[in-house]
Amino acid sequence: MSECVLCKEHRRNRVVHENKYAYTIMSINPVKAGHILILPKKCVPNLEDLTDEEKLYLIDEIEFMRKILKKKYGTRGVTLFCGMENGTQPQHLHFQMYPEEIAMTHMVMGEYYGVDATKHIPQEELQRITDEMKTFIDGVRNEK
Ligand SMILES: [Zn+2]
Repeated sequence: MSECVLCKEHRRNRVVHENKYAYTIMSINPVKAGHILILPKKCVPNLEDLTDEEKLYLIDEIEFMRKILKKKYGTRGVTLFCGMENGTQPQHLHFQMYPEEIAMTHMVMGEYYGVDATKHIPQEELQRITDEMKTFIDGVRNEK
């Protein structure tokens, strides 16, 4: 079996932030600036496959990154979603989040934003936005 694409991003050091059991990477096909994926380190398809402690760390990472996106992009809020058992993510559970003023939950995001979900952005561009987000997070941490 080939390596999970999300685990591969972790191995490639594309992580912008992490805690003990969860981490965040930039989307490889972003619908807009600040589109991130938040996932458990354990490569499992469902929440029920995680321990209670792993779930807590996953929620902590979601909460941390919500604050980061709001601060970096200046939006009132974020959109957070996760397709479970709907055929979109058979391998590795992940939550998607991006900064947004108004919820668009009734629309398919790729369609709405005019993004072709089968096309990935170039590796260099992905690395650039990853490094930019890491630098921003470091800056926020240094404020305290
Ligand atoms: Zn994986």
